[in-house]
Amino acid sequence: MNSLLDRFCRYVRVSTQADESARTYPSSPGQLELGRLLTEELRGLGLQDAQQDEHGIVLATVPATVDHATPTIAWIAHLDTSPETSGHNVQPIIHANYDGRDIILPGDPSKVLRTAECPELLAQKGKTIITTDGTTLLGSDDKAGVAVIMEAAATLLARPEIPHGPIRLCFTCDEEIGHGVDHLDLQKLGATVGYTLDGGGVGEIDGETFSADLAVVTITGTNIHPSIAKGRMVNAIRLAGLFLERLPRQVLSPETTADREGFLHPYRIEGGVAEVTIRILLRDFDTARLADRAELLRTVARTVLADYPTARIDVSVTAQYRNMADGLKKEPRALAFAQEAMRRAGVEPKLTIVRGGTDGSRLTELGLPTPNLSTGEHNIHSPLEWTCLEEMATAVRVLVELARVWGETSAPR
Ligand SMILES: [Zn+2]
Repeated sequence: MNSLLDRFCRYVRVSTQADESARTYPSSPGQLELGRLLTEELRGLGLQDAQQDEHGIVLATVPATVDHATPTIAWIAHLDTSPETSGHNVQPIIHANYDGRDIILPGDPSKVLRTAECPELLAQKGKTIITTDGTTLLGSDDKAGVAVIMEAAATLLARPEIPHGPIRLCFTCDEEIGHGVDHLDLQKLGATVGYTLDGGGVGEIDGETFSADLAVVTITGTNIHPSIAKGRMVNAIRLAGLFLERLPRQVLSPETTADREGFLHPYRIEGGVAEVTIRILLRDFDTARLADRAELLRTVARTVLADYPTARIDVSVTAQYRNMADGLKKEPRALAFAQEAMRRAGVEPKLTIVRGGTDGSRLTELGLPTPNLSTGEHNIHSPLEWTCLEEMATAVRVLVELARVWGETSAPR
């Protein structure tokens, strides 16, 4: 456990905050620095193929210990942290044998982890909690995942009697700004199935995500000087107001939906009298319903145009990502073996759904079935972020069991 704790603290101290305004890949030099550190550590563990590529992605292979052919699996985590809260100069604070009280963060005493607001924290009484000092995020998203993968690899290498097939380790960059798999070469990764270690708490397996489209609604009016506008001006701003007013609000909005309900979500509007664009997120677990949402936008557009026949409203829709469950159907072992591994590690698995996308949704769509596993993250993207050492240790045990379960199959590689 100490080596896991040491790893985690070592990794969070490297500043890897993603930067949306950067023109480089990865978007921050710290990601390259952490990747170099991990590559050296992997070589130190004996993985001579460990390599950081020109995009900062780190790959290595834990070789099989069984003689028969088994599918290659991949363990994936991301090196960057969220741009939402500073990730510079992270000072992890270890609360051994946590006493169950509120935790005042010393770098900014206005930041308090209250058990009343966070019952999962109270549940960790007696365990080892790691928090920030209140001035930065912690970065357990996703350095808990990185540390768990590194520790699981070290465990397998130290205990060659554990039977397993080949395991690819993969650390990616810029997940938090939507570019986590842009440069990941699936041929090179060469795995049958992947697992991202980037989930909250313990015992959860995310096997379903939203399917997502982006709709851009462009409203074109007629601009003319207001002094001579009578009967001639068609103000796109007013049409945008009408259009938005006619979208459903009491249903089908993020503010009014939960669980399996989808929504359409206008999130940005810009423009002037001549032209306005509205960007709208379309989300649903049922991929087919995205087309219904787009049709609803077109219907609303027609009702506006009925009153303003000289205006134009274009609705253009592009696909963003697809429900992971669609692709996981092709490889049912991806979820079944994760459940089995958790049971063997003494954890009751819970299949969960994500009201958003993960790198796994894109990877699954690209042909690598990739569910997401719990790795002890809590309150992510915030100075109130924390993690629990015992939960991370459980995630390590789950990975070791997962290696074993996949090693028991004899399907072709
Ligand atoms: Zn993450």
